Order: sequence, then C-alpha cells, then structure tokens
Amino acid sequence: MLKLIKRLRRNDILMALACSVLVLGQIYFDLKLPDYMSNLTVLIETPGSTMGDILNTGLEMLGCTLASAALCIICGYLTAKVAAGFALTTREAVFNKIADFGQYEMMHFSVPSLINRTTNDITQVQMVIAMGLQLLIKSPIMAAWAIIIIKIIDKSWELSAITAGFIVALLMVIIVIIVLVLPRFRRVQKLTDHINLVARENLTGINVVHAYNAEDYQNAKFEKSNSALMRTQLFNQRTFAFLMPVVTLGMNTLALVIYWVGAAIVNAVPAEDMAGRLESFSNIVVFGTYATYVIMSIMMLVIIIMLLPAAQVSAGRINEVLSAESSVLEGGVTESPETGTVEFRDVSFHYPDGGDVLEHISFKADKGETVAFIGATGSGKTTLVSLIARFYDATGGEVLVDGVNVRDYSFDALYDRVGYVTQKAVLFSGDIKGNVLFGESRGGREDSDVSHALTLAKADEFVNKLSDGLASPVAEGGSNFSGGQKQRLSIARALAREPEILVFDDSFSALDYRTDAALRAGLKSDLADTTKIIVAQRIGTIRNADKIIVLDDGKAVGIGTHDELMRSCPVYQEIARSQLSSEELGA
Ligand code: ADP
Repeated sequence: MLKLIKRLRRNDILMALACSVLVLGQIYFDLKLPDYMSNLTVLIETPGSTMGDILNTGLEMLGCTLASAALCIICGYLTAKVAAGFALTTREAVFNKIADFGQYEMMHFSVPSLINRTTNDITQVQMVIAMGLQLLIKSPIMAAWAIIIIKIIDKSWELSAITAGFIVALLMVIIVIIVLVLPRFRRVQKLTDHINLVARENLTGINVVHAYNAEDYQNAKFEKSNSALMRTQLFNQRTFAFLMPVVTLGMNTLALVIYWVGAAIVNAVPAEDMAGRLESFSNIVVFGTYATYVIMSIMMLVIIIMLLPAAQVSAGRINEVLSAESSVLEGGVTESPETGTVEFRDVSFHYPDGGDVLEHISFKADKGETVAFIGATGSGKTTLVSLIARFYDATGGEVLVDGVNVRDYSFDALYDRVGYVTQKAVLFSGDIKGNVLFGESRGGREDSDVSHALTLAKADEFVNKLSDGLASPVAEGGSNFSGGQKQRLSIARALAREPEILVFDDSFSALDYRTDAALRAGLKSDLADTTKIIVAQRIGTIRNADKIIVLDDGKAVGIGTHDELMRSCPVYQEIARSQLSSEELGA
C-alpha cells in the first residue's frame, strides 16, 4: 500500500500533511477534556465554589469539543480530496500501463481481472484513504499521548499495568483476526474477477445462450462463483462482527476495573486526609477517562483494520499491474533504410505455454507487392502476421519492416508504417468519422479523406444511405452494423492512415464475393505502391497475389505464384481442388 501512497501528487501530499497537523489540533482539544473534568470534580468537592465557576469550565469544555469537531470536518474534507486525487491518478496510471501491455500480459492478467483492478481495487484503496487517513494518524498519536499523560498522573503502578494488560490482549485479538481474514480477502478479489468473467461471457454471448436454451447452465456457473463469494464475504463479516463487541467489552471492563482498583486506592488513603483522598479520587477519574481514550483509539484503529486487509490485497493487485514489465518493449528507431518492405528471417514462434506454432519462416515482401498466406485453420497464419504488428515478438529469428527489426522501432514509427486489419472487426462507440480517423494524430484530416477511405473500402455504399452520413452513430462494438459492414469500416480505418504496409488478417472473409473482388481491384489500382500482406481462406481472394506462402502446421511448405504452386505444392493443390471448379482449375 505504501508503494501506492508514494504515487500521490504533490498537492495531495500537502493536503495529507495539513490533515496531520489538524489531527494534532483535534487530539489537543480532545485531551484537554479530562483536565476540565478533573477541575469540575475539584470544584464540586470544594466548599465555596459557585455555579458560575462550574458553568465557565463547562463552556470551555464545549468550546474544546466544537473546535475538535470543526477540525475533524476540515480533515474529512481534505482526506476526501486526497482520496479522490489518489483514485484519479492511480486509475490513469493503471489505464496507461495496460495500454502498453502486449498479448502476454493480457493473457496473464485476463481482461475481467484488469477491469476489476482498474475499478473495484482502486475504490477499495480510495475508501481506506478517505475513511482511514484521519483515523490512521489520529489513533496512534492519541493513544501514545494519552499513555504519556497517564504515566505523568499515575502515582501507583497498578492502573498502568491493568491498562497495558488490556491493550496487549486487545492487540492480540486484532492480530488473530487479521491473520484469519487476510487470505480470504485475497480470495474475495479473485472470486470477484471470476464473477466478472462469467458475467461478461454471458452478456457478450447472450444470443447464443438464448438460442441454445443454456440459461440454466449459465446460471449454475454464475451461482457457483456467486455463492463462493458470498461464503467468503460472510466469513469475513462474521469475524469482524465479533471484533467490535470484543473491543467495546474490553473498554467497559477496563473502566470497571480501573474504578474498582481506584476505589481501593482511594480507600487506602487515611480518612482524615480529606485533601489526599480528593486528589486521589480526581486522579482516578482523569485516569479512567484517559484510559478510555486509549481504548477508543484502538477501537478507531479497529475500524480501519476492518478496511485495511481488503485494501492491502487491492493495493497488491494494483501494484502487480503497475510493476508488470511489458513483454513488448518499445525501441527508439524512427528512420528506416527501405520503404514498404516486410521481411521474415528464419522466424520461429511459440506461445508461452505451448510448442512451436511457427518454424523457420523466411520471405520478403517488396514495396507494392501483395504477399498472401493460406493454409488450414490453426496452421499459424494469424500468429505470423501478428508478429509484424508486434502483438507478440518472434521467439526466434527476425521480423523486419522497411529493413529495421520491428523490436527497434518506436511504436509510433512502426504503427505509422503498418496498418493492421484484424480478423474480427473491432469498432468503438462514437460515430463513423471517429472510427475511421481512430487514433489519428496528424490533424487536419478532412471529411473528404474519410470519404475516400470509405470508398476504397467499399463502405461508401451503405454509409451514404445513412441519414447522418459520416456522423452516423456507431454503437459499442459496432453492434448496429452487419459483420460485412463492420469489416469494411475497419478496413477503411486502416486505409485512412495511408500506411506503407497493409496487413489484412482474413479481413475479407465476412465480405460477399462481389465486394471482396471489387475491394481488391480497388486496392490494386489505387494503392499500387502500398505493400499488402493478406491472410485468406479463399483461393479466389489471393490467386493474383505476387507471392503466396502456404502454411502447414507452422511451416512454409510452398512459396510462389498461384500457377507455380498449382504445379509444385500438394497442400496448395488440395486447397485449390476443394474450392475451385474444374474449369477454374484448368484455367
Ligand atoms: P490460423 O490463423 O492459421 O488459423 P493461428 O495463428 O490462429 O492459426 O493459430 C496457430 C496455433 O496457435 C493454433 O494451434 C492455436 O491453437 C495456437 N494459438 C493461437 N493463439 C494462441 C494463444 N493466444 N495462446 C496459445 N496458443 C495459441
């Protein structure tokens, strides 16, 4: 948690310090009250005291209480600001960190867990700061201050020994409870991650759940995690429910014991020594009040202790994200010796927990060339092209773009060169223009640029029919467009960046044959200088490519043009035979 607190902004630290000073003020006023009580006891017992004297002392007590309350309110205001500031900066830091994560980290943490860490975990820590900062400063100082005063006024060791005994016993109970609940708080966060995962899966796949009548199956899955979470939370709450009464009982018992032992001490003073008895009695009243303060401080600490384990676990989870090293590190190169080239030099790749997915792949795509990849599902096509965009880094060999290893580029330089269209179209809520110019940092882009990209991507046909044109809304995930429309919009997004290299990862499969053919013809004529790397399932999509690379189980088993491969590559022949008519094969 301390590691996180160190991230507070300067202003927040200053406010926290101001809060500490105000807390000292509060303690000062609080601890003045027993003195007034002692004065009152003496006044009441002293013959000749007037009502005015008693009222004056009472008014001063009231003043102290009001001053302490005012400081407490200002402190509350400051800590709320510190806590909100902390949440703001930490959320920003976590969000930025996650934005730099590669696929490894995403898989390692999982999306639901990252969402949970960005929201729920930060709120847990924020709550402790908002509610706890004041108490956390106040309680120990108050306890220490009260103990020092007790030491000064205590003439006999018995009362101090009794108070110390109670404190030790209370602390032991608190420690036992923390040891019991801490691992369970870790479990609570893990279970919350899991609930998020099940809920998210259920919501994104809601149509499939309905279509397969799988509500009961999904409910059972949710119920399992839900009840596990409830049981764990219940255990923690029950344990805590036990804590408060124990502390209250301790406090009251201590008060009783102090007065009991105190009575004996007063009795021990000879009856003739009235002044001595009075002093002893007053001392015991004051001592009792201070001892109650000590226990009350511990009680305040207990309140934070109830929040601390959850916040401690959350802080650990946030730190895990913040200190995670991204597996895809940014280089600094911005210049390159070539333009529009992609080269694989003996590239191999395996996922962290699996065997080789790509083995010794070598090829070069020159400027303006179209290089296509074909092969059975699972043969490694998507993995191969994802290495160009550094979603992963090759585990062997080198991937070069424009003659520079992709690892050496700054992200800006790499992504300015490479436009990537994913297999599954991803759109963001907003409007069409915002999606096409997504992440565009050049500025000065006109509607005509957007329209041009839409026309090239054959998306103009349906966008022009929309009443709001480029300003037409796009729902979350592009759910108000069909699969083919979404795919064309995401192609337009890549084209609008005007990159030197375009990577299409099976991006034409959602398009009908006519649109697929028209789009490819347009790319060929309008973007003759742009290098195109295409993953495809359909031979028709790639038969005119300059180079076709046939992948089989992670190995390149054929490289050449359609005609060359038809003569020399059995795997390609098999794919072609399964897709093309005998006339097309003969052609
Ligand atoms: P293709 O695009 O040719 O269908 P992929 O590149 O998607 O093939 O997958 C190649 C192999 O890598 C498959 O065996 C698949 O199971 C495996 N694979 C793909 N993604 C991952 C991943 N994130 N973690 C582990 N294995 C993966």
